[in-house]
Amino acid sequence: MFCFRIGLLHHVKGEHEWSLDACQHGPLEEDRQKEWMEKGSLAHEALSEIVLSERWLKEVHKYLHFRYSAV
Ligand SMILES: [Zn+2]
Repeated sequence: MFCFRIGLLHHVKGEHEWSLDACQHGPLEEDRQKEWMEKGSLAHEALSEIVLSERWLKEVHKYLHFRYSAV
């Protein structure tokens, strides 16, 4: 689970491969409209805090379940 959290923080910056692991998704569309988060930006700092918090870890299954059931 720890690796998943680290991976998420890389993914939002547009980094899909890093020293220890890589994203599990396939190739991304080149003409992606949404911008990636900037490393060190307030948004990324905030996300890091959330993702690395224990409370989030305990509740993340709710969000994952929601995502899958919404597809
Ligand atoms: Zn990724």
